[in-house]
Amino acid sequence: MNNQPIKKIVIAGGGTAGWMAAAAFSKLLGKNLEINLIESDDIPTVGVGEATIPTLHLFHRLLGINEQEFMAATNATFKLGISFENWRDVGKDYIHSFGFLGQDCWAAGFQHFWLKGLQQNIASDIGDYCPEHLACREGRFAVMANQDLNHAYHLDAGLYAKFLSKIAYQHGAKRIEGKISEVNLDESSGNIASLTLASGQVVEGDLFIDCTGFRGLLIEGALHTGYEDWSHYLPCDSAVAVQTETVGRPVPYTRSIARESGWQWRIPLQNRTGNGLVFCSKYMSDDEAVQSLLDNIEGQPITKPRVIKYKTGTRLKHWNKNCIAVGLSSGFIEPLESTGIHLFQRALVRLMQLLPHNGVNQADIDEFNAQTKAECDNIRDFIILHYHLTDRTDSKFWRYCKTMDIPDSLKHRMALFEQSGRVFKKADDLFGESSWIQVMIGQGLLPKQYHPIVDQMSDEELQHFLTKIKDGVNNKVKRWPDVNDFIQHYCPSKMM
Ligand SMILES: Cc1cc2nc3c(=O)[nH]c(=O)nc-3n(C[C@H](O)[C@H](O)[C@H](O)COP(=O)(O)OP(=O)(O)OC[C@H]3O[C@@H](n4cnc5c(N)ncnc54)[C@H](O)[C@@H]3O)c2cc1C
Repeated sequence: MNNQPIKKIVIAGGGTAGWMAAAAFSKLLGKNLEINLIESDDIPTVGVGEATIPTLHLFHRLLGINEQEFMAATNATFKLGISFENWRDVGKDYIHSFGFLGQDCWAAGFQHFWLKGLQQNIASDIGDYCPEHLACREGRFAVMANQDLNHAYHLDAGLYAKFLSKIAYQHGAKRIEGKISEVNLDESSGNIASLTLASGQVVEGDLFIDCTGFRGLLIEGALHTGYEDWSHYLPCDSAVAVQTETVGRPVPYTRSIARESGWQWRIPLQNRTGNGLVFCSKYMSDDEAVQSLLDNIEGQPITKPRVIKYKTGTRLKHWNKNCIAVGLSSGFIEPLESTGIHLFQRALVRLMQLLPHNGVNQADIDEFNAQTKAECDNIRDFIILHYHLTDRTDSKFWRYCKTMDIPDSLKHRMALFEQSGRVFKKADDLFGESSWIQVMIGQGLLPKQYHPIVDQMSDEELQHFLTKIKDGVNNKVKRWPDVNDFIQHYCPSKMM
């Protein structure tokens, strides 16, 4: 490893990941760093990735982003969860909301109290005990002082990159237009020394962030880092995307509708709707997928359907030598729970925490890779859960998912919940107890027993406890306005 201080950071690629990296580094560490972002006008961005999760707030807070300005600039709408339709079985739907369920006690989560209530016929849908869940169903939302509503956004990925680029420029980042034609390695260390552009320009750097999308031009093309293939767990390997005119009023959740050989997304923005079908090419051709998507959209298409190919999995190392992969270059789990942008921001924050001073050192690299691996493995398990825990046997695709082998870590989580209703959030877990519970119950897994502490309550006390929470949720949500009325008042799109 070389012992030179890190002075020049080169970001290869200007999609969502590239501009998130440029904005974050320039704003937070830019005074002592030269930051250059290279992007090619001839190589389009992947152009999807428009649903987010609430962790984006942390990133925006770091960057000092004002929510109203950001939403108006990116045609954003509010997102309180995801509606999973036909996943458990055809005609059976549930919502995974971003909220917390009910009220826990020190020994047992709310699900234990709810379970006993269910057995006694005094409990209703678990979502009735969660404001975000009910607000999804009622189409209500508000931002108020001292409120704790967990929300995320649907946004226009292209406009988001543009919005972030302005922050990056303001803080001194520079954009270099051009196609990277060669990645030049230092012979003795094997580190990346520079990138040569098609124009002949050579861009040198100390640290390189690979944001070149699925190509992984630096991390794989030059450094041959290797890839852990997860397609036996997550067999979808293709998507077709199309944008449509909006029909009706946008809902405050992403729709994920299971189809014969995959699932369809519907993401409402203020000015249009993003649609896509994620599918497994073993069971469905590209043409069939395009047709299936077009048959199942509302509103006129405003773009041509575009097919995207990928392999689910992760780079064996996200940081290798002096190169860090951020974005699709680092791997791809699945768009199902909108975790892509979250992982980009986690990689960036982690990199800033471990930023080398005098040269890259192996201990920092190992820590970065270990933390990233644990985080990705947990997300992978959560996504597999949706596919595997299903009653669907109506197509080859669903029969495969239902019977496929799954990681031991997931088997354990499912067994723990099934046997005793217990769920624990691990240190590296993105998704908390309420998320796991909503999806496991939504997919049809009900625990066999509840925690004995629940029996400390008399039946009347339990009924009172459940009713009080449910009424509290109802009263809270009832006061919020219609989500679209709120958007028109709070952050109307600049384009409308
Ligand atoms: C089907 C699908 C749906 C997704 N949905 C979501 C979602 O809802 N939510 C979410 O959080 N994430 C989602 N993701 C993941 C991810 O957030 C998005 O795909 C995101 O837009 C990817 O951005 P990126 O910057 O990594 O890659 P890209 O957008 O592909 O950007 C790559 C950049 O590299 C540049 N480049 C490449 N090669 C060269 C070269 N030789 N020289 C110069 N420049 C080069 C390109 O010009 C471009 O600027 C989804 C992904 C897929 C595939």
